[in-house]
Amino acid sequence: MRLVLLGAPGSGKGTQAELLKAQYGCAHISTGDILRRNLKDKTELGVRAGVFMNKGELVPDGLVVEMVEKRLREDDAANSFLMDGFPRTLPQAEALESMLKELDRPLDVVLFLKVEEEFLVRRLTNRRTCRSCGKIWNALLMATGTKACPECGGELHQRDDDMESVIRNRLDVYREQTEPLMSWYEKKGLLRSIDAVNSPEKTFKEIQVALGR
Ligand code: ADP
Ligand code: ZN
Repeated sequence: MRLVLLGAPGSGKGTQAELLKAQYGCAHISTGDILRRNLKDKTELGVRAGVFMNKGELVPDGLVVEMVEKRLREDDAANSFLMDGFPRTLPQAEALESMLKELDRPLDVVLFLKVEEEFLVRRLTNRRTCRSCGKIWNALLMATGTKACPECGGELHQRDDDMESVIRNRLDVYREQTEPLMSWYEKKGLLRSIDAVNSPEKTFKEIQVALGR
């Protein structure tokens, strides 16, 4: 199974990607995670990308495309993968299409996680990530003052780009640069829309229905 998860920041792509990976074993390719890891390790790519990420802007297409190309050639991504956070612009979508054509591995489906903007801001300002296991939590759904990951006890932290001012910018960028991908994939007959306002479990059930599994 080869799929793309499309959706605004805060629509739950990362959470659904984890569930999909656990259920179907496909390689999870998250450009945001790869970029954050590079930023933390202060690689050349990380240093170049960090300038954009911290302002809530997109990292230039060339850098991201090259990164994905490399990741797609790793063994675990040979037959099934799920893209989370990529493509985010039309040039990226076109680059992905030609990469996959060359590898003779076309996409099966593009899942669009649909959530209204007011929910997105609330989710993002309350998002907490575990420094140890990487699991994503919602501060509103945990006891107040929870500082440790309920799963592994690791430290919970707020991503640098989950501040309200940066969030607004990320949503503007999404509307301008990523939303046009929807009609592009729709025309190719690949787009499935998923109602993603409810709990992660309920959204995952919808995804399974859309995948016909
Ligand atoms: P979210 O979807 O919650 O905004 P991500 O973890 O997917 O978060 O991305 C975080 C940041 O990393 C983005 O705001 C952007 O700066 C950068 N980034 C991730 N994926 C891409 C991409 N495909 N193209 C350009 N920039 C990207
Ligand atoms: Zn944890």
